[in-house]
Amino acid sequence: MNSSSDFTIKRLTTDLYCIQENISDINPIYTNDPINLYLLLGDHTALLLDTGCGLSPLKPIVKELIKERELLVFNSHAHWDHVLGNHEFKEVYIHENEASKVSRSYDLSGSKKVFSKYSDRNYSIPPAENVKVLHDGEFFDLGDIKIEIIHAPGHSPGSICLLTDDCRLFTGDVAYYGDQFLPNRQQIPRVIDTLSMLIDLCEKCGVKTLYPAHQQTPCDTTLLNELLQGVKKIESLWHKRTFQKDFYAWEINDPENERFRYLVSRF
Ligand SMILES: [Zn+2]
Repeated sequence: MNSSSDFTIKRLTTDLYCIQENISDINPIYTNDPINLYLLLGDHTALLLDTGCGLSPLKPIVKELIKERELLVFNSHAHWDHVLGNHEFKEVYIHENEASKVSRSYDLSGSKKVFSKYSDRNYSIPPAENVKVLHDGEFFDLGDIKIEIIHAPGHSPGSICLLTDDCRLFTGDVAYYGDQFLPNRQQIPRVIDTLSMLIDLCEKCGVKTLYPAHQQTPCDTTLLNELLQGVKKIESLWHKRTFQKDFYAWEINDPENERFRYLVSRF
């Protein structure tokens, strides 16, 4: 394990690095430490999945690790903790549903207290020079590794997972252990559909290892089953909800599985 600036770099396998930073350093209301950025090294091309909080230089670390390889940069979705390092890179790919969000400067001025660490940047983080769109089912060739884009809406409309041809699944914020930020109550069936789809995909493709964008990594596919069971219980626990003011969300706790806490948006 190496520490470089605010990042901790872990080599998970011969071809995969996890670059971690703590989002609670931005503000303690964020509990899903660490955020996991991934750097997957193919023969001729490397893929960086997510660019993090953008406060510490990421590109020099990536450059050193990929050596002579070409670099592709993907965002798993457009939430701030995954995209604010985009400005360091010439070109970033994101699902078509969220491309407009990362094509302009990211404006944090609506929550100056929460994002006080960005005051010297005037709460405005520039985008990548070029934003390209990803579509469900699209393939990318890194050389000895092929990647398929899996559209997995729910956590956000343009969330993606990445499936490798050697049966690894990068789940982004669609599945991890920790606080689950969910869309409003009406959209929970969509979250359930996506998790069910991913469970089927893992069975069909023989996926054993999951690489989530937050907290514990790697995980096995039990994560998807546990999360699906938990999200399905939200309706029956709805009467026990409390108001969580930091996120303007309903908070639901499942006494039978404390590895998750559900924050259901009120918007
Ligand atoms: Zn996140």
